[in-house]
Amino acid sequence: MSSDDPALEQGETGDETKQFLVKCESCSFERSTDGREEATRLGNVHHRETGHEIVAVEVPPSVDPEPE
Ligand SMILES: [Zn+2]
Repeated sequence: MSSDDPALEQGETGDETKQFLVKCESCSFERSTDGREEATRLGNVHHRETGHEIVAVEVPPSVDPEPE
């Protein structure tokens, strides 16, 4: 029984299925991607083309609002 495992957050697996929002600090470029690798790749492409700095923000999976 491990339904109450506090170490769950520290798992290093699952990055490939996480959603990332790639945003540019210098223009309105914004793109959502699946996986950190794709986010990094997109950021590199935009940086190479424009020299802009890119930030990748992890998008948490949509959670249902807690019922009262
Ligand atoms: Zn840009």
